[in-house]
Amino acid sequence: MRLLKAGYQGIYLPELGVAMDGTHPDADFTFVTHAHADHMHKNRSAHTYASQPTLKLMHLRGFRGSSTELKFNTPFETDRFTVTLYPAGHILGSAMIFIESDSGSLLYTGDYRTPPSPATEGFNAPPRADFLITEATFGLPIYRWKTTDELAEEIRSFAKDTLAEGYTPVFLAYNLGKAQEIMHLLAPLNHPAMIHGAGFNLCSVYVEENIDLGNFMAYERETCEGKILVCPSSALSGGFASNVKKKRIAYCSGWASLESRRTQLTVDKLIPISDHLDFYELIDFCERMDPKKVYITHTPNPDVVKHFLDERNISSAFLNTEMQADD
Ligand SMILES: [Zn+2]
Ligand SMILES: [Zn+2]
Repeated sequence: MRLLKAGYQGIYLPELGVAMDGTHPDADFTFVTHAHADHMHKNRSAHTYASQPTLKLMHLRGFRGSSTELKFNTPFETDRFTVTLYPAGHILGSAMIFIESDSGSLLYTGDYRTPPSPATEGFNAPPRADFLITEATFGLPIYRWKTTDELAEEIRSFAKDTLAEGYTPVFLAYNLGKAQEIMHLLAPLNHPAMIHGAGFNLCSVYVEENIDLGNFMAYERETCEGKILVCPSSALSGGFASNVKKKRIAYCSGWASLESRRTQLTVDKLIPISDHLDFYELIDFCERMDPKKVYITHTPNPDVVKHFLDERNISSAFLNTEMQADD
């Protein structure tokens, strides 16, 4: 199967006229895995196929083009191929794209997470794929996540203890996906939460999909003291909750597993919770798909991932330049 990586992001399959997570001038079909900025496009003229939550989130984030909703786990036939979206467990609406054609089958993961984020549709994959294109954001053996239950307990304890001591807890979490996951994990506490405005706007899609985000409202500077606060790290430097003297800050990210981040960010607690899979889950998933070839993208360490795949006799290549391998 011939793959073309068009610029820094996006995959193009010239034989099928398929573009994924980017647009291509010759594409007849443009798929988007999820609504993070590095995956969604804003090109009005590209008719876009995606899951319903992804399209809703894309519209809230400025996409104005035409679109077709695809249901998860349900094959969609075209004259050249069959495509099925599988839930990727990364953020709400996130999908892996599975394409079956005369050139074989290909699974493009986008960003994904196993086990899935509890604030998503879950995770489900086809039994196998001839070709696998996988991100490897956390492609180093130092990244091994705690279980979702352990992380939920850590997050709730931080909020409870901080409030009990008369401080306001602040969770630093990206506006789409991580913020809602943190809110969902905090929902059982029933304590009022205030969310940064940009993240708040996206919460409606989660509520429509019946994800419990607890007792939440949009951030208000004057009344935020004593609430649980959720915002991206950039908002904090922009003055978010700067009127609250007694606050404690938790940084929620896969990168929080690096202790050095604490001093870089001057936060009170690091909570290593990611919406990507960890290194071991990544290697296991590649093995489970039993592919003829794995293409590795979105990674600072392709050689490390390749080394571990070689050890399991899984053929792989790094996909990062303009034009990529035939196979
Ligand atoms: Zn993403
Ligand atoms: Zn991404």
